[in-house]
Amino acid sequence: MQLSSFTKTLKPSETLAVSTKAKTLRAQGRDVIDFGLGEPDFNTPENVIRAAEHAMAEGYTKYTAPVGLPELRRVISEKLKRENSLDFTPEQIVVSCGAKHVLYNLAMLLVGPGDEVIIPGPCWVTYPAQVEMAGATPVIIPSTADEDFKINGEVLRRYITPKTKGIILNSPCNPTGTVYTPEELEDLAKVLLDTEMFIITDEIYEHIIFDGVKQMSIASLDPALKERSIIVNGFSKTYAMTGWRLGYCAGPADLIEYYGRLQSQTTSNATSFAQVAGIEALTGPQDTVHMMVAEFERRRNFVVEQLNAMPGVTCNMPRGAFYVFPKVDALYGKAAQGHTVQTSMDMADYLLDEAGVALVPGDGFCDDRYVRISYATSMESLQTGLGRMRQALQQLQ
Ligand SMILES: *Cc1c(COP(=O)(O)O)cnc(C)c1O
Repeated sequence: MQLSSFTKTLKPSETLAVSTKAKTLRAQGRDVIDFGLGEPDFNTPENVIRAAEHAMAEGYTKYTAPVGLPELRRVISEKLKRENSLDFTPEQIVVSCGAKHVLYNLAMLLVGPGDEVIIPGPCWVTYPAQVEMAGATPVIIPSTADEDFKINGEVLRRYITPKTKGIILNSPCNPTGTVYTPEELEDLAKVLLDTEMFIITDEIYEHIIFDGVKQMSIASLDPALKERSIIVNGFSKTYAMTGWRLGYCAGPADLIEYYGRLQSQTTSNATSFAQVAGIEALTGPQDTVHMMVAEFERRRNFVVEQLNAMPGVTCNMPRGAFYVFPKVDALYGKAAQGHTVQTSMDMADYLLDEAGVALVPGDGFCDDRYVRISYATSMESLQTGLGRMRQALQQLQ
């Protein structure tokens, strides 16, 4: 088959390798505990499911406007005002097939060959992958656990070049769970205001946040910044709707106009009845969200405590999302059961074989010193899995 030069640049997801192996082991009858999941273990709230059922019965089974149902765009506009203190008209909002799809469209619309996009790391692997798909160059700014996985304005300034087109921010962050404070965002904003850079702010974990910390959108800090910001969000995490494929963004009117053109020639609208369900998610009762977040917080406390008691492991206390990102490189160079652990991939492989625990190597998030554990799984699985992990790590000599 003759493939295009673009196709030849596509890389397989490194994070998928472990989950594929976990599935194979499971199929062979092995008891594998999965800490790799990037989605809530809760079901979509009942009222949202009902709304979709009604929508289908009522005929919401046809195309909608490519950019989304007017009613959903209006409800999102109100949500942004109410929760994020952001003024966007419904015409400045587009609905797509998940936030990942939104981010892909934005990469296509905003960058191309020769452009650089700054991404604070560790980061979700999708950001650099999509920037590369658009022909541009991702520039990762590394940060460490000691810095709480955050960059500051001074560091950011050093990475800005004449080729820099924009930055992708993600707070709360996947994989680290880090949440920027308003003061820290101010510090970044000061530097960004001196530039013409676009700011993509992925706020998909905004409600999964603990310890009374308040999430804030950098776009709300300054009108001049908002003019260049695109707020990316979706329903997957807050409303446990990963399978529904529903996300959205709000941004400058001229960009959104082109976004509509792109989407009308590619996917057209997101699923019609999922959009109606999205209206219910945003306007209906929010008690299931609060219940889910309280449970995530309880699990987070347990997981962080357990990890810090393991030999060679240190783990920050994340303030949001449902991941922890423990540092494990103190164990690199050690060996057990025929495994020598030199990298995060080796570590994931060793823990899968020896402990029957699947987690994601930090390499997939641009930092090889860490692994990512998702606690979007039952307390029972966490107890068993972390116990087995501790035993396996103790064997490393
Ligand atoms: C899960 C996730 C998304 C997108 O999810 P969709 O299901 O595509 O809406 C976006 N950003 C981050 C950081 C995520 O972890």
